[in-house]
Amino acid sequence: MATGVAVRWARPSTGPGREAARSVDAACTRSWLAEVAGSLEQQRDYLTQLDAAIGDADHGINMHRGFTAVMRRTDALEDAATPGQLLKAAGRTFVSTVGGAAGPLYGTAFLQAGEALGDGGSFGPRRLLEALHASLEGVQRVGAASEGDKTMVDALAPALAGFELELRTGGSLETAVRAASQAAGEGARATVPMQARKGRASYLGPRSVGHQDPGATSTALMFAALERAVLADRSQRFAAGGRPRGSRP
Ligand code: ADP
Ligand code: MG
Repeated sequence: MATGVAVRWARPSTGPGREAARSVDAACTRSWLAEVAGSLEQQRDYLTQLDAAIGDADHGINMHRGFTAVMRRTDALEDAATPGQLLKAAGRTFVSTVGGAAGPLYGTAFLQAGEALGDGGSFGPRRLLEALHASLEGVQRVGAASEGDKTMVDALAPALAGFELELRTGGSLETAVRAASQAAGEGARATVPMQARKGRASYLGPRSVGHQDPGATSTALMFAALERAVLADRSQRFAAGGRPRGSRP
């Protein structure tokens, strides 16, 4: 797996200004889900066009339907719901409202992430790393895809690797989510020359070459949304008279 990079953990940064960068709470988790929902709504037609080229033209519709239901479900959860509970509810909702490949795959990813986050009211970057590992493992257990098969794994695996490397080399939560987002975007673009070996697109054989994978693209949108949610959360904490700036940008 691409994440087995032999990089030792750098000493964690300490001191004022680091605290705000360290954790994601339920409010930030909710704003991440809302960012994902908004992005999937905006990009629904684009994702569907990508799926029209190598699938059955429903990926944008599936993702939008699933996330509309996720927002309805999580909005109905009590304020005290933890990040883990929010993600588990999102996963279950996804499985029950989205058919096809994406439903069980993303549903499992969210469920496994929620399980890995445990019961805490907030989580730090190392716990997020564990959640990403659990998501990838879940997706690969269900879908049996490896990197290079032209699936969502081609965005998820590099995002995880980018996140882990940044964290292990002394980066903050913010720089790690940015690295993950960049790697996911690059991973999605890198699916263009690949020939699909899993999912509906694989039926096309060599004719699947030359098109970006829809699922890798929606995964990249989710990581871009995570970056925005984490950065916005930090700005809000500072604006609310939180700790002084001092962490890496
Ligand atoms: P369907 O293919 O059933 O119409 P979607 O169009 O919603 O479902 O999702 C298609 C996406 O699902 C693909 O672009 C690909 O990224 C992803 N996918 C398909 N099969 C697999 C698999 N076995 N493992 C991982 N991802 C997969
Ligand atoms: Mg489809």
